[in-house]
Amino acid sequence: MLKRSLVLALLLSAAVVAQNSTAAKSAAPSFDGKSWWDYVKVLAADDMEGRETGSEGLRKAESYIVEQLKNAGLEPAGVNGFYQPVKLVSRQIDESGSSLVLVRNGVEQPLVLGEDAMFSTRVDLAPEVDAPLVFAGYGLRVPEKDYDDFAGLDMKGKIAVIISGSPAEMPAALASHYQSLSERSKALHAVGAIGMISIPNPAAMDIPWSRMTLARTRPSMALADPGPDECSCIKLLATFNPADAEKLFQGSPYRFQQLADLAKERKTLPRFALNASIKARAKVIKTNVESDNIVAKLSGTDPKLKDQYVVLSAHIDHLGIGEPINGDRIYNGAMDNGSGSALILDIATSMRRAQVKTKRSILFLWVTAEEKGLLGSRYFAANPTVPKKSIVADINTDMFLPIYPLKVLTVYGLDESSLGGMVSDVAQQEGVPVQSDPEPLRNAFIRSDQYSFIRQGIPAVAMQVGYKAGTPEAATHKQWLTERYHAPSDDTNQPVDLEAAGKFEDIVQALAIKVADTPQRPQWENSSFFKRFVVVPNTGS
Ligand SMILES: [Zn+2]
Repeated sequence: MLKRSLVLALLLSAAVVAQNSTAAKSAAPSFDGKSWWDYVKVLAADDMEGRETGSEGLRKAESYIVEQLKNAGLEPAGVNGFYQPVKLVSRQIDESGSSLVLVRNGVEQPLVLGEDAMFSTRVDLAPEVDAPLVFAGYGLRVPEKDYDDFAGLDMKGKIAVIISGSPAEMPAALASHYQSLSERSKALHAVGAIGMISIPNPAAMDIPWSRMTLARTRPSMALADPGPDECSCIKLLATFNPADAEKLFQGSPYRFQQLADLAKERKTLPRFALNASIKARAKVIKTNVESDNIVAKLSGTDPKLKDQYVVLSAHIDHLGIGEPINGDRIYNGAMDNGSGSALILDIATSMRRAQVKTKRSILFLWVTAEEKGLLGSRYFAANPTVPKKSIVADINTDMFLPIYPLKVLTVYGLDESSLGGMVSDVAQQEGVPVQSDPEPLRNAFIRSDQYSFIRQGIPAVAMQVGYKAGTPEAATHKQWLTERYHAPSDDTNQPVDLEAAGKFEDIVQALAIKVADTPQRPQWENSSFFKRFVVVPNTGS
């Protein structure tokens, strides 16, 4: 491909020609990583204050993006110009008015919030709960596999204690889907359980407990109107420190350590009533919040296909200002997800300036409240600013981590839809092989905004600069998660590989163009679990 500087030189002459010849079609720009990094440096600067949903910092970052879009000549495709407002409700636990107490044989054992356990306000916690505990293994119900951790257990009015993860025979996509909060809520509700205490699988923790708990009193959010298929039936949701989890299992047939060892190997877990109950008191402060998605359009040129859309999405929000770590309170979110936001901004403005023409239209979408549970994307996918049926695919970019050379591309959803083959093709042209998720236990396919589209039946894919198990890159990746993921050190002082970023950007852009230009719209594979969400059958192109 041409270097970016050459493309710009060509453009100057192409622009003149284009006035007389509508047939002129410009080559897609090629990226060197520098333009991308310049955008990251703005979006992840300290004065954006970590881009917390609803904050002044996020508004500032969004107005910067909108300004760049306007300057480049992108079309607005939101509700108010480029903006699509999203109404949210914020819930914050007041620990001074909250408590968790284990009760065993009439003896009360108060738990230390933050040390033993913490509440999750991702559900609307009941003010008071007093209920027996039942250990339900992984807490999964997967009808497709005839798998039910609740089978034979009396869960009525009980709290399920579970270890996060899944048995080895469970395909990654199924395991991911059924571990999502909305599926878990439905499963718990179906068996009559009223809450869940989850113990992170010590073998698969991205973030150490000490850092997980730092964020526990930060507000969580929900859509003000959650929509018809969300149940608000969970009264207690809490996470238990694996290091203290023996407390739950005293007097039971198993020690936690034995269960953790089984979970580490993804073996079948025993399930049994615990000889304890939990008394929870939760004081929650609720406030209304409004935040925006940003939607921009690059119109297609094919008379039949231009009313169909390929979505390039990235979340723009991050965690804001929080507990200091090494004296730094600003959670800049340079990789998470300044990197993806900058990437699609760079692609949008570059394609527009290079007058790249595609058959279908391309929507560039920056969503809010991803860190709050994929809320901005869920709102957009349920209430899109173009007809839902006209969205043919979502290509999402979240934390693609160009922190070492791009030797292999990890593709989430590689085998799920025809998008997988398209990614393979365009990556191959860049000389990059592809692989599916090397760590299915991390549930990456449902942990970012592509999942909101998947749940609406829209084929979706996400990519990351990949690594092979056992390589130095794998170690760097792991170290990055431990040290920088959701920490203030995810800032612009960290080392990045600009060449890897540029090549990744070339691939995402090439994929968007390929999807936009291919007559047949992407289809879920027949074997794909996610095909179930397709409500209206596709009618071809
Ligand atoms: Zn994040």
